[in-house]
Amino acid sequence: MAIVDPAPAPMTDGLGRRINYLRISVTDRCDLRCRYCMAERMTFLPRSQVLTLEEIALLADLFIARGVRRIRLTGGEPLVRRDILDLVRRIGRHLGGGLDELTMTSNGTRLAQHADALYEAGLRRINVSLDTLDTDRFTHVTRGGDIRAVLDGLAAARLAGLAVKINMVALKGINEDEILPMLHWCNAQGFDLTLIETMPLGDTGEDRSDHYLPLTKVAAAIDTQHRLTPVDMRTGGPARYHAVDGMQTRLGLITPMTRNFCADCNRMRMTCEGKIFMCLGHEDHIDFKTAFRDGGIAAVEPLIDRSLRLKPARHDFRIGAGASPAAVQRHMSVTGG
Ligand code: SAM
Ligand code: SF4
Repeated sequence: MAIVDPAPAPMTDGLGRRINYLRISVTDRCDLRCRYCMAERMTFLPRSQVLTLEEIALLADLFIARGVRRIRLTGGEPLVRRDILDLVRRIGRHLGGGLDELTMTSNGTRLAQHADALYEAGLRRINVSLDTLDTDRFTHVTRGGDIRAVLDGLAAARLAGLAVKINMVALKGINEDEILPMLHWCNAQGFDLTLIETMPLGDTGEDRSDHYLPLTKVAAAIDTQHRLTPVDMRTGGPARYHAVDGMQTRLGLITPMTRNFCADCNRMRMTCEGKIFMCLGHEDHIDFKTAFRDGGIAAVEPLIDRSLRLKPARHDFRIGAGASPAAVQRHMSVTGG
């Protein structure tokens, strides 16, 4: 009689949430220094502490075998990691055989070189961060970036056949006047748009509360011009989508500050150091790298169950009077988004 491997038990955390989405930060490095994300002078991890691409691929294999159906590669900037395409191709082999979707979040600066290869490796969607369409503002927000590279990257992504979603962090006094123009621009380009509330992660050398903009206020303002209707679309992440009257573009809202979404959380995050963070808003993590380097995959498997048990109920981000500038010391670039 043939012995059939039993299907893996679904990954369920201690609160009964089904975990099927893994975000992998493949590097903490980046070619930009966005003001809300990083400090101007960052210290990055020494390479010896960073997982090799082969180690990342083996850990991804394990998570897929345990029931992860979606993987997003992020960073830092994933496309600055040398040979990143090898990893994309390697994980992409699981598509249609365990993995439903492989996606990436990128700042777009190197997308022009890589868009075709990403599509060939199995990517169909990409999130590209773009907080402004104004050349000088872009340079200001990113502390030195050149918007032309991103616009070229976006054009290449579209030509390659990738569905593009623009991620825009809503920043009071910086880009709030550009939110409606960005929506129109995305509609003209055939891109979706997701707005994000700034989260207190890591010291950036600036006071985030100066630029915090609640999306409740933004959505209400957009709604006076283009009626917003919630739609039942989900892309695996925390964004809640809306149809925009008169436009094809769907508007996503990521509202960690004004509307908590933790009850539906389906995610785990792995850093390029092999630390598994069960929640973006907590310092608790489990070190998979040491276990893996000492004892191989067999040593890591029980740690998945442990991380599921330890996943907290929710984050507790606060911004403004009385709140500490960073709820967690880690920058967003460590765990990615
Ligand atoms: N470098 C890539 C990029 O910028 O798209 C991927 C990594 S970046 C950390 C992922 C997303 O997190 C980006 O959309 C970025 O705008 C967002 N982000 C960074 N810091 C943030 C913060 N403190 N609060 C909210 N979003 C943040
Ligand atoms: Fe780099 Fe992305 Fe952070 Fe900007 S948001 S500094 S592009 S990691």
